[in-house]
Amino acid sequence: MKPRSLKTADILPFGDTRLRAVCKPITVFHGGLGSKIDLIKNTLAAHGGGAALAAPQIGFLRRVVVIKYLGEYHELVNPVIEAASGAVEGFEGCLSLPGFLGNVTRAETVRVTFQNRHGDVVTLERSGDMARCFQHEIDHLDGVLFIDRMTEERVFNERTNEILRVSDLRGLTEARYVGEAEGPGKWTSTTRPWG
Ligand SMILES: [Zn+2]
Repeated sequence: MKPRSLKTADILPFGDTRLRAVCKPITVFHGGLGSKIDLIKNTLAAHGGGAALAAPQIGFLRRVVVIKYLGEYHELVNPVIEAASGAVEGFEGCLSLPGFLGNVTRAETVRVTFQNRHGDVVTLERSGDMARCFQHEIDHLDGVLFIDRMTEERVFNERTNEILRVSDLRGLTEARYVGEAEGPGKWTSTTRPWG
């Protein structure tokens, strides 16, 4: 039997204006939604270092996120953070800013309500890494990147061992920084759970 080929998409690199879009909610839960979610899921699966991927990272400007946590996939449609408590600092990276790491303070615990691909409403409360992941991904749906949330002025590039000022990195948007010109397939693989 021929193996089923999994369609994947390119992950948009920092500098692409679509990463700054405020995404629209999903209102129709049939037709193409399932295949769009599968495309996000397959793209995430193709990037071993990724724990999550938001729809705008592949240029689909709708409120959809896929998270892979402890081997299990979560599909979040129209996710909303309903409650947040505590504060914890930790390093974050992003598949759209390959190599860059920065310290971000996030709520320690969040309660998120979302719909699944069929439109059923689900509520989850999570702490720690999963809570951080929810916040990072839901930010993507509003065009917000982790570098916008950093409390420190410095961001580390683990590929080049360079430390940049965040303002320098932000300035690269105007300089049309396009990440790795050779495409996502050449990204240095990382085992860290970035999304
Ligand atoms: Zn990200």
